[in-house]
Amino acid sequence: MNNFELYVPTKLVFGEGEIKKLTDLVPKGKKVLMLYGGGSIKKNGVYDQVTEALSSHKVVEFSGIEANPQYQTLLKALEIIKNENIGFLLAVGGGSVIDGTKFLSSAVLYEGDTPWDILANRIRTYEGLPFGTVLTLPATGSEMNSGAVVSRKETQEKLTMGGPGLFPQFSICDPTVIRSLPQRQLANGVADAYTHVMEQYMTYPANAFLQDRISEGILQTLIEVAPKVLTDPNDYVAASNFMWSCTMALNSYIQKGVPTDWSVHMIAHELTAHYGIDHARTLAIILPSAYTKKFDQKKEKLAQYAERVFNIQTGTVEEKAKVAIQKTEEFFHSLGIKTKLSDYTDNYQGFGDTVAENLKAHGMVKLGEHRDITPEVAAEIVEMAY
Ligand code: NAP
Ligand code: FE
Repeated sequence: MNNFELYVPTKLVFGEGEIKKLTDLVPKGKKVLMLYGGGSIKKNGVYDQVTEALSSHKVVEFSGIEANPQYQTLLKALEIIKNENIGFLLAVGGGSVIDGTKFLSSAVLYEGDTPWDILANRIRTYEGLPFGTVLTLPATGSEMNSGAVVSRKETQEKLTMGGPGLFPQFSICDPTVIRSLPQRQLANGVADAYTHVMEQYMTYPANAFLQDRISEGILQTLIEVAPKVLTDPNDYVAASNFMWSCTMALNSYIQKGVPTDWSVHMIAHELTAHYGIDHARTLAIILPSAYTKKFDQKKEKLAQYAERVFNIQTGTVEEKAKVAIQKTEEFFHSLGIKTKLSDYTDNYQGFGDTVAENLKAHGMVKLGEHRDITPEVAAEIVEMAY
């Protein structure tokens, strides 16, 4: 196991009916900016619960943060934070609203020329404006980590940022919020969380026995609850296990002491930036070809995953490893998620080269657990996913 430090200061408040605790969690005496998306919270009762809990706070609202939060939209919120002298941010939404809020938390204290530098120059955030979240979509883990992804339409960029200053102070996770989620978003949530675990787990073996077992437990739980959540989002047992699995998939614990990979996400971001394909679906497109391309480096762990998660006990390491990739792809299909780029667009010829150029332009020239996925290798992975 590698040496590590663990720092996860977010207070997680989990369970049905817990949104009312905002009254005490959000500091009084500071002006609050409540941020949300396109209005789903007004239809499912979350907005009413939040505003009721904050009826004695000073609250200003900013709505319209879109899926894959857009830089231009966030700049408008930044103006409000500065003009209204906002002292606390409250994100009410999925990963997009939470990530947008993290960007704002960082940008408001940033003293450089333009806040896009935070993303373009990968400037880490050590101090941000304090914020909390009410999660409405289990998927990203953003409610309990310090990373964010922000997009910029006009340049077709989608870039990551983060730093120890960007943990939410608290996050409220009420599993009943999933009742209003469309099938597409439920499936996306499962696939995103599943891939988060895979990015941290599917590397060369690192003798991190507990991290492996926790990762395998999250994968098995997601496989178990996915069909239940998709057929009946009112099933509280399934919903709560789904939601906690998504948080645990990306809240630091399984990441510590192990190499981690993250090349699937970094390559997949290019597909959302270029085609607007949902984040989770871009992962399902890239993952099978990334693991096929890196088969020799990953086969031992792929075989372990086949044995422990899918109970494949016969065959050689190579055979088990191949079945593991197949089973993963089948799992995405079982969620109704297609796994080839050509399922989403006819306009894919030459896109491998585009990805290579974009990765180069952003200095992402050594991806993956061994830092050996060059832009050229990434292009091959994309081409294998056509
Ligand atoms: P999302 O983009 O936040 O939301 C997707 C859609 O679901 C929106 O249209 C939203 O509508 C709707 N929605 C949310 N909650 C709902 C509910 N309870 N009922 C009905 N509709 C609801 O989805 P996401 O998958 O959570 O976030 C994706 C973003 O997170 C991507 O940009 C991805 O790159 C990023 N990401 C971040 C991390 C991280 O660690 N920070 C990790 C992985 C991915 P409204 O607009 O009306 O709210
Ligand atoms: Fe993700």
